[in-house]
Amino acid sequence: MVDIILKKKRERPVQLHHPWIFSGAIDLVRGKPQPGDTVRVLDAGKQFLAWGHFSPCSEIRIRAVEWDENSPPDEKWLSDRIKASVQKRDLLKGTDSKRLIFGESDHLPGLVADQYNEYLVLQTLTPAMEKWKAFLVRELAGIIRPKAIYERNDTESRGLEGLEPACSVLYGASWPGLIPVSENGLKILVDLEHGQKTGYYLDQRMNRRIVARFAEGRSILDCFSYSGGFSLFCLSRGAVSVTCVDSSAEALDLVEKNMKLNQLPPDRYTGINGNAFEVLRKMRDQGKKLDMIILDPPKLAPSGSHVRKALRAYKDINLLAFKLLNPGGILVTFSCSGGVDMSTFRTMISWACQDAGIDAQIIGQLSQAEDHPIRLSFPESEYLRGLICRVP
Ligand code: SAH
Repeated sequence: MVDIILKKKRERPVQLHHPWIFSGAIDLVRGKPQPGDTVRVLDAGKQFLAWGHFSPCSEIRIRAVEWDENSPPDEKWLSDRIKASVQKRDLLKGTDSKRLIFGESDHLPGLVADQYNEYLVLQTLTPAMEKWKAFLVRELAGIIRPKAIYERNDTESRGLEGLEPACSVLYGASWPGLIPVSENGLKILVDLEHGQKTGYYLDQRMNRRIVARFAEGRSILDCFSYSGGFSLFCLSRGAVSVTCVDSSAEALDLVEKNMKLNQLPPDRYTGINGNAFEVLRKMRDQGKKLDMIILDPPKLAPSGSHVRKALRAYKDINLLAFKLLNPGGILVTFSCSGGVDMSTFRTMISWACQDAGIDAQIIGQLSQAEDHPIRLSFPESEYLRGLICRVP
């Protein structure tokens, strides 16, 4: 058994159940841990703190996973955690697709499992989860009984852990192509093999529904639309027009397919394949006006050190959006950058308002869907923030 001894005064976060132990907090490694090994974490006085997963390439050298010394994380432990995580999703209604396991938030660092209808997509993002992969597949196949399980291990974060990218069929049928999933009464096509992330943005499910309540009778611009989630719900709730903007032609192709699948009126839809920053600027220069604008950009601040630069980009698009709105118009604006907390995001929005000369109101605050829970001892698990603003 490998013991990892922390430096003096570096035990507090571990005691408070924060799962990340950085290399700088480690004083001594007793033994020769291999990537993904289970290790014991001790404080400077050699008292047990937690069991953890070892990751030699990553700055996050250990992910603490269990605080009870008598419950070493073995196969039974892992099986129990998976079952508990899946069971917690039982309350989620109105969809056949959900995140079953959300890494650290479900006390399973490095593991993501998404259910899309009868298919599962798996991401093993740490050496420990990579080592457990075959076991994870067997367990999930036993609990969910899916038609197939795929790995979408093509994330950048795997590189930081010393893991190669990998996409393959781990269990069952070959890639099914596009599969329709149900979300609150609509059908959405998901591309498990080529789609972004694991195929779809499940974290916005609840927000699509909330935002659609404001759609009736409005002309809507949906920037960073991906497969059109927000637009489809807005059209189904009586929007007079929607324009989707995305830099990915494949994404816009999916929007059209989704429109057809849900029999939504094609004459109310326009797709623009381009850079949303430029499209917004062009629309402002043309004096275009809209009743509602949705801004759901990708992560503009990949880490804390990028926040300042990212805030300028966020402000840029939000300022343009405010200028494009008709009186009484609505801006729905998101950030999925973990480092941009709600108070910073709101401050940025207030700057955008001031510069636009608009005295707007916030009428709603949005967060990630419940299958992406925020673990209080791990604030990093909160990453999606949204505001619904109304202009006078
Ligand atoms: N709103 C979507 C999710 C958006 S994810 C939903 O509800 O499912 C972010 C999207 O922004 C991706 O589809 C990506 O292709 C697109 N994107 C990234 N950079 C862009 C840019 N500069 N201009 C337009 N689209 C961009």
